[in-house]
Amino acid sequence: MKSELDLAIIGGGIIGVFAAWYARKQHPDWHIGLFEQGLVGSGATFYSARLDIPYGHTPLRYQLAQRSRSLFAELRKEMPELPIKDLPFYGIVQEDNAQLVLLQLVDNNARLLPEIIPSLLHDHPLLVLPQHAAVISGATASQAVNNELVNLLAKNFEVTPNSLIIEHTKIVTVTTLEDIFDLQSAGGNYFPAKRVIQATGPWMNEILGTGLFASQKTRIKKIVAFHIDKQPLAGDPLFYFFADDAFLMPKYEAGYWLFSFKCDHWDVVPDINTLSIDEADIQKARGILTKYFPQLVPLCSVGRVFCDTYTPDGNPIIERAGDQSKYIIAGAGSGSGFRLAPAIAEAALDYYNQ
Ligand SMILES: Cc1cc2nc3c(=O)[nH]c(=O)nc-3n(C[C@H](O)[C@H](O)[C@H](O)COP(=O)(O)OP(=O)(O)OC[C@H]3O[C@@H](n4cnc5c(N)ncnc54)[C@H](O)[C@@H]3O)c2cc1C
Repeated sequence: MKSELDLAIIGGGIIGVFAAWYARKQHPDWHIGLFEQGLVGSGATFYSARLDIPYGHTPLRYQLAQRSRSLFAELRKEMPELPIKDLPFYGIVQEDNAQLVLLQLVDNNARLLPEIIPSLLHDHPLLVLPQHAAVISGATASQAVNNELVNLLAKNFEVTPNSLIIEHTKIVTVTTLEDIFDLQSAGGNYFPAKRVIQATGPWMNEILGTGLFASQKTRIKKIVAFHIDKQPLAGDPLFYFFADDAFLMPKYEAGYWLFSFKCDHWDVVPDINTLSIDEADIQKARGILTKYFPQLVPLCSVGRVFCDTYTPDGNPIIERAGDQSKYIIAGAGSGSGFRLAPAIAEAALDYYNQ
């Protein structure tokens, strides 16, 4: 590389790609490089269900969800070809928790409507409502139907001569000298940069030499979602089960429903060859599904698996690495990094605008 980069982004997942996208918009003159050890979008982002629900159960997540919502809306206006579609939202919640959940929903149309229950059950006869369940409706969720969102953003980022995407290049060490970061790749090349955003997803702790210890201790957790072999109908909604932190999402184009639930398998390695769906996952998923959609239980056996970085409080990390003022860590999606990505990327770049 001839000259130093104004910004190097390490990691080409949804957060890194959004960081590149907004950096290009905010700083048209910057020389920006996006480094990815594999192919853009091939990490946690590839396996994601890509669901965006208007919800934030901590103040930071609420704020990021609200901001991401408006950034996604702007983006959809700018690029109508993006493969994102809206889904009607049904939140199944315990009666005594319903008011709190309503407050945490980032959608003014969300309502607790007990009177819709008969019509809901009429339209979705397989749904069983547990005792003391309430239903929240009126809000809208959205779903990126495939990985094209990441690819389109990356493609559009790369249309200027000072935007580079460097794939199959793993950054192994970062050293600093006189305000310049030197990124060394596994192949022995050096890439100097004035600023760095590290968005390496579940590989967050692997780069050496930057003293980048995030203020929260992170752990990597397996994520599993089952594919329920039943064709959804056009217009079918998303069912979100708040008491179980699970959801059932129609994947109309793909011809199945996706059932995601909270898997408690911690401290895994982000390597698809070592991750698999096991009997405990199947039993847990079937147990939750039995409560709400018992007739779908026999169809719950295969699915997708990967992992994500989690923080103890579930908040993403968007902070300076140690005492480095121009090295920003952005990630720890805690299972929601896809939907919060635009706001996480924007907040990471804000450090350079202060
Ligand atoms: C099964 C599953 C379902 C999910 N469903 C949802 C959902 O419905 N909604 C939602 O919001 N979130 C969901 N998530 C979580 C979401 O996918 C993640 O939070 C999000 O994709 C994280 O994005 P990221 O950019 O931080 O990480 P990644 O997508 O993992 O990107 C990081 C990238 O950095 C690269 N990299 C790592 N180290 C280096 C290095 N040293 N040098 C160069 N490159 C490097 C990796 O190859 C990778 O491509 C789900 C996750 C899984 C696994």
